[in-house]
Parts: sequence; C-alpha cells; structure tokens
Amino acid sequence: MLVHETAHRQQALAMAPEKYQAISGPERSLWALTIREEIADCLADRVTGRVTQENVRAFVIENERAFWERFTHEMLTASNKPFGASCR
Ligand SMILES: [Zn+2]
Repeated sequence: MLVHETAHRQQALAMAPEKYQAISGPERSLWALTIREEIADCLADRVTGRVTQENVRAFVIENERAFWERFTHEMLTASNKPFGASCR
C-alpha cells in the first residue's frame, strides 16, 4: 500500500496540480482512472511482488467485457478534455 500511494504522490508532483486533478478528480475518465491506478499497482508489484488489491484484478477480469464497452464508448465520445469524458 505504501508503494502504491507513494506512486500517486509522485504522479501528483510530476504533473501540475490541475493536470493531476484531470486524472483524479470527479471529471476523470475511466481510461484516466485505469492508467493512474495501474501505474501505481505496477510499481507496487515491482517493488513488493504484490499488487495492492488483488480482489480488484478478479473483479476486472470478471467484468472485462463491460469495461471494454465503456472504454470504447468513452474513447469514441470523448470531448476535447485531455483525458476524455466523465467517469460517471
Ligand atoms: Zn491508487
């Protein structure tokens, strides 16, 4: 968990606060959320050999088709915002 959260801290420091808000705030896209979380979990896995929330991986695999449909919809209907449409 510490590595995962440290990765988020580094993401925020590396990006301007308003750009980080685009991937973490209420207007983030599913795509931005996925990239943000996967980067943090990938680093946690590299450092500790474990992902932060193994149950999330199982959930994503179980719902893969629905995620791809949502990704596709968001990517095809994204506005000119840097990270696409809303996650809601
Ligand atoms: Zn996270």
